[in-house]
Amino acid sequence: MKDIEKRGPMTRIIHAGQHVDPATGAVSTPIYQTSTFAFRDADHGAACFRGEPGFKYTRLGNPTIEALETNIANLEGGCGGLAAATGMAAVNMVYLTFLGQGTHVAATESLYGPSRMVLETEYPRFGVASDFVDTADPENLAKVMRKETKLVYLETPANPTLKLTDIKACAEIAHGAGALLVVDNTFASPYLQNPLELGADIVLHSMTKFINGHTDVVAGMVVAKDKAVLARLRKVHTNFGGTMDPHQAWLVLRGVKTLGLRMERAQENALKLAAFLEKHPKVDWIRYPGLESHPQYALGRRQMRGPGAVMSFGVKGGLEAGKTVINNVQVATLAVSLGGIETLIEHPASMTHAGVPLAERLQAGISDDLVRIAVGCEDYADLEGDLARVLDLA
Ligand SMILES: *Cc1c(COP(=O)(O)O)cnc(C)c1O
Repeated sequence: MKDIEKRGPMTRIIHAGQHVDPATGAVSTPIYQTSTFAFRDADHGAACFRGEPGFKYTRLGNPTIEALETNIANLEGGCGGLAAATGMAAVNMVYLTFLGQGTHVAATESLYGPSRMVLETEYPRFGVASDFVDTADPENLAKVMRKETKLVYLETPANPTLKLTDIKACAEIAHGAGALLVVDNTFASPYLQNPLELGADIVLHSMTKFINGHTDVVAGMVVAKDKAVLARLRKVHTNFGGTMDPHQAWLVLRGVKTLGLRMERAQENALKLAAFLEKHPKVDWIRYPGLESHPQYALGRRQMRGPGAVMSFGVKGGLEAGKTVINNVQVATLAVSLGGIETLIEHPASMTHAGVPLAERLQAGISDDLVRIAVGCEDYADLEGDLARVLDLA
């Protein structure tokens, strides 16, 4: 499509990186299920390996995967993307590219569990130090910056506390210290938040969540703002080998086309459900960026186009009452993950964040009573009825 940059968000979601197949006229991007690509002759092969346009080998690039990379890079406003086998492969692509012996990373304390655990348990072997702070107050970040700090790693909204971090303020702190700013944008999706426009250098996604949206694929993506950063990431990514498969890329391309529609619907359900839970006598507390009671409601309005579809809450009676809720739901499903068309409910302290040591988990605000709900696209009345019934049991 011509002038794709000037089109609206839904148009770009559907068309960016997509084109009618020149060989057959196929409208849907074909699955180029091949490991290797034939060269016309020796000179052509040599030119491709010198860096001239042309596919060589699927770990190094493939038309189906490239269509997905171009699509997400466009939605995030970056110069290019790198698709990864999983969200964690995307996270580690960034860590492995910019961290090494004697370097330091400063990160949000309430992070996706494995994104934090891997820094605490694996990277010390390579001489990497890390600090985790409550980045909801950027001053906390400023205090831990060192001359060895190469990366500032944020998650906003954070999993599972739904705390927000001011991306612009943290970009100034990171850049002032000569570090790159990375934002995990999984919870908001590119439809609701674009960290690169707010000063981040790299944005990453677990596309397993909202981008694919159908709970049938695991996948990751890294998008960089400038070409030099993308080139460094590409080198590490293709050599470490956590790249994507063409069929996986096609499934995510199929999922992303409805990202805007799904996000609008799930968010509408979430806004109503949050208002219902906030008023419910059995609910002790609730945190959702779409509620005025959220401590950073104003920041959310400023840096996001909408509050998203994930919330956390505590039931009066603590962990036991929370268990009654998650054990008895019928419309929602008790499962980890989020961002799919179906509503999922889980208990982070015993599931997604069980690997974070107790003291650190409590420090990060992940209390034992915290229940996380990722709202899907079902009929709202069914969702509210389900929660009303299980809260009565609690
Ligand atoms: C799920 C998730 C990841 C990891 O992604 P996988 O696809 O499961 O490897 C990273 N960050 C956040 C915020 C996530 O929710």
